[in-house]
Amino acid sequence: MNVICCLKQVPNTAEVKIDPETNTLIRAGVESITNPYDTVALEAGLIIKDKYGGTVTAISMGPPQAEEILREAIALGADEGILLSDRAFAGADTLATSYTLAKAIQQLERPAPVDLVLCGKQAIDGDTAQVGPGIATRLGYGQFTYVAEIREIDEAKRRITVKRKVEGGFEVIRGPLPAVLTVELDLAKPRRASLPRLIYSLRTGITLWNAETIHGDPQRLGLKGSPTWVKKIFSPPLKQGGPVFDARKEPRRAVEDCLNILLADEMFAWHFLKRWER
Ligand SMILES: Cc1cc2nc3c(=O)[nH]c(=O)nc-3n(C[C@H](O)[C@H](O)[C@H](O)COP(=O)(O)OP(=O)(O)OC[C@H]3O[C@@H](n4cnc5c(N)ncnc54)[C@H](O)[C@@H]3O)c2cc1C
Repeated sequence: MNVICCLKQVPNTAEVKIDPETNTLIRAGVESITNPYDTVALEAGLIIKDKYGGTVTAISMGPPQAEEILREAIALGADEGILLSDRAFAGADTLATSYTLAKAIQQLERPAPVDLVLCGKQAIDGDTAQVGPGIATRLGYGQFTYVAEIREIDEAKRRITVKRKVEGGFEVIRGPLPAVLTVELDLAKPRRASLPRLIYSLRTGITLWNAETIHGDPQRLGLKGSPTWVKKIFSPPLKQGGPVFDARKEPRRAVEDCLNILLADEMFAWHFLKRWER
């Protein structure tokens, strides 16, 4: 199996602050990590490699320091790390990001057909969950989002069966390879790197690709290829506490007040009365 894992370097969001003047994230002094969903995508790729053989290639689009997360991926078992880094990629929105990653994956298809592209469900900074589906659409691959379990890969019939999260439960679906999967945290528990692999990763080079290498159309890369503009970015104001119903003095009144508020919500009232009728 030829598996590609898309890894994004993200700020540790618990520490993110926003510059109110420029409306941008203050990245200075903030620790960078691999997007947690992507560490699960990588683990899934490594499990597939352990079971079916083949290779796992980790790719990331970002500034030179994103090399760190690719080295970590190699320490965990990835065969190669490819960093897509070029000034032309800067300022990319999800459309340009997925275009750039898809063009890179097309290059990786040349030596051997790609079977699977594994992405996180979403990045914890951008949070759009659009990049995985964007890659699948551009490459014409099957698309499986919110994957919580890989049930079966049938190499002979070139198809995959997965369990994916849907509202209120799960569904099991099957589709053809090649496919893009975006994964949930419960899919796998990331392994730890062994000492020999850690040493190996420090000695291994990371492949650097730019706009030319991926044969990207300059009009579709970075800011030029990004129709989305961030007008304002801000932290939402802290929510005020909700109403308090003190049942110590007048329990009946407290219950009535509480019910009045709840029943004013049409959805709640509908569910409540439906259960009441039973
Ligand atoms: C106008 C505009 C300008 C922007 N400028 C910048 C900027 O200058 N610098 C900047 O850092 N961000 C910038 N962004 C944010 C950037 O567009 C998003 O971070 C990026 O497109 C990924 O979207 P997301 O974080 O919502 O990813 P999601 O769609 O939530 O990510 C899903 C999965 O896709 C994969 N993935 C996503 N991004 C990458 C990546 N870069 N490399 C590898 N895999 C990836 C991962 O597997 C991830 O788990 C800008 C956004 C806009 C709208």
